[in-house]
Amino acid sequence: MGSVQIVTTILAAAITAVAVWLAVRAVMKMTAVIRLGQPAPERFSDKGARTKTMLVETAGHTRMLKWGVVGAAHWFVMVGFIVLSLLVLEAYFEVVTPTGGLPIIGHWTIFGLATEIITVLGLIGILVLMVIRLRNRPTRPGGRSRFTGSTMWQGYFVEWIVLLVLIFGLLIRGFKVATDHFEYPFWATPVSHAVGAVLPDWSDGASVAALIKIAISMTWLIVISLNVTMGVAWHRFLAFPNIFFKREPAKPAGSGLGALRPMTSQGKPLDFEEADPEKDQFGVAHVEQFSWKGLLDFSTCTECGRCQSQCPAWNTGKPLSPKLLVLSLRDHAYAKAPYLLAGGGKDLTGEEKATQAQLAHLDVLALAEADKPLIGTAEEGGVIDPDVLWSCTTCGACVEQCPVDIEHVDHIVDMRRYQVLIESSFPSEAGVMLRNLENKGNPWGAPQNTREDWTKGLDFEVPRVGEVDDFEYLFWVGCAGAFEDRAKKTTRAVATLLNEAGVKFAILGEGETCSGDPARRIGNEFVFQMLAQQNVETLNEAFDGREKAKRKIVATCPHCFNTLGNEYGQLGGEFEVVHHTQLLAHLVATGKLTPVQPVDGGVTYHDPCYLGRHNRVFAAPREVLGDAIAGDLTEMPRNSERSFCCGAGGARMWMEEKIGKRINVDRVEEAMATGAKTVAVGCPFCSTMLSDGVNGKGAGEQVEVIDVASVLLRSVKPEQPQGGKETAPIGG
Ligand code: SF4
Ligand code: SF4
Repeated sequence: MGSVQIVTTILAAAITAVAVWLAVRAVMKMTAVIRLGQPAPERFSDKGARTKTMLVETAGHTRMLKWGVVGAAHWFVMVGFIVLSLLVLEAYFEVVTPTGGLPIIGHWTIFGLATEIITVLGLIGILVLMVIRLRNRPTRPGGRSRFTGSTMWQGYFVEWIVLLVLIFGLLIRGFKVATDHFEYPFWATPVSHAVGAVLPDWSDGASVAALIKIAISMTWLIVISLNVTMGVAWHRFLAFPNIFFKREPAKPAGSGLGALRPMTSQGKPLDFEEADPEKDQFGVAHVEQFSWKGLLDFSTCTECGRCQSQCPAWNTGKPLSPKLLVLSLRDHAYAKAPYLLAGGGKDLTGEEKATQAQLAHLDVLALAEADKPLIGTAEEGGVIDPDVLWSCTTCGACVEQCPVDIEHVDHIVDMRRYQVLIESSFPSEAGVMLRNLENKGNPWGAPQNTREDWTKGLDFEVPRVGEVDDFEYLFWVGCAGAFEDRAKKTTRAVATLLNEAGVKFAILGEGETCSGDPARRIGNEFVFQMLAQQNVETLNEAFDGREKAKRKIVATCPHCFNTLGNEYGQLGGEFEVVHHTQLLAHLVATGKLTPVQPVDGGVTYHDPCYLGRHNRVFAAPREVLGDAIAGDLTEMPRNSERSFCCGAGGARMWMEEKIGKRINVDRVEEAMATGAKTVAVGCPFCSTMLSDGVNGKGAGEQVEVIDVASVLLRSVKPEQPQGGKETAPIGG
């Protein structure tokens, strides 16, 4: 060992020792913070599916690849990070001797070839990511960047580290080539040979370059260890467990979509018949009341801003960005952690748990953080502003886009639950809807005995459950479908088409009440449970004696479709629920319905969030339209998984939209820009929102918003009176 190698070895060992010590400390700190969360025993189920999903999502980059070039570039960088870690390990042999290499595999030509390819692709990948970040930097003129609010220096830092590590890897090889100590042939390592051709014949070059490479890598480790909230770096490790522990591992996309998580206390679902707010946790009032998976979610956020770029609230000037919400919760959790780890925290009656002695030596900043209300305005020092919390439509675009499977909607609703159930703090205009649900069983407060009024004037009898036993489908009409004038036309169209196709169906009539979706999504789990239990009882009675496959329900409202199909199982109601567009597509495909006159004038289709993203029904409505219209469907730029919300979900239908541009107007502008004369929808709330948007634009005469079922009916029975455009105001 020469004198240069003695110095390089000592320096490499010293910086590595410091970095490893800091990294161990950082991992212990993060683990301690994540463990502060509430239990989530269900996250340990089905380990086989979890492992498979984790491997597919990480190795296959299935979520990231939806973003084309970025996804591909990121894949190469990820593979480069994993495989080239071996080359960082090899550098420890090279600081000791410039001709050193990894034992055994370091002598294999295949190893030389593989690492050469990955180095080159990694270099291309990181340069692409650097250009993309620069081109999307928040300070660039014009447009809103997905990186707005991200900690930009951290992104640049990580990218430069990757770039430099790759470059110094090539320099080490180049010095070995230049000194004639490189053992891989030219054909396997042409780039290393090209670098070597321009480097001097410096015998210590490889050791010095190896030291610099180690120093760069360890600087990265030191910096991220001193910044445990640096998600852009830590996600390289945390993404694996975060994906492994996602809510529904079998779901390829959107694990946090569809059903909401039940309300839990100490990891157990809350039973409202016995629940006591002084003993049980009602929603989330403090950051440590999220589950440990929630805290892991917050720690894993890469700050990529994909969620933000798709969020309808953020894109229309509301203060909500799912990314900024997650970052606020993360920063608050880590800043409050010293207080919590010292024994601090409030019990469920609001009393401090720690003794004065326990808190005596705490940092004043941690104590100040602990005093912040989780939900509160800037003046109150709140972590999350109420306007942020109530801007969410629960559309799920954030969950859909997140490459590390963060479950934003569950976290937002958990915070809403506490605000509604314990603080009674929510936008006052939604109070009428909640009262109507409690007293009348529907959000509009319409009399229950008018639920069947939509059947009047039909030229066939609509049977009720109880009057007939041999129905195949129970037609779940829904409150909008029963009481709202536009939606009633859809209900009538569906009933007419089912009758035409000879499908045996029956309705519950006055036996039906609201599915509970608006109550659940605003956070009033109590009212949801009340309504849902009543419906589950009624439905179980209606299907008495039938196996699950024969407990078939067809629903026209995607919110009912989602709630009945995905959430009633939590209360003992197992049904086979289809959306009307799925059933209609089947009836057309099997020849039970025959479109005879194509609807022309250009048609575009708006994917309802709770049908599309939340339940992956993208094809059926398009199939129905494809059969019923002249020419091809004209897609909006934001369609299918990336569809843009109409603004009504998450109980936003019953709240005023006071901040920013109206979401429905944004969507209607996109629909009208296609030039289509018909905007087809598959949801009564989308119908209302988009009709209002079209009318607000003064285009009610030129553009018609209409349900897919009504389009099909026009094509199947062109002689049938259609009842005019579906642009009437909300009925009562
Ligand atoms: S669910 Fe939709 S509205 Fe809510 S934060 Fe996510 S993207 Fe934004
Ligand atoms: S998409 Fe996921 S990882 Fe990216 S910023 Fe949003 S929450 Fe964070």
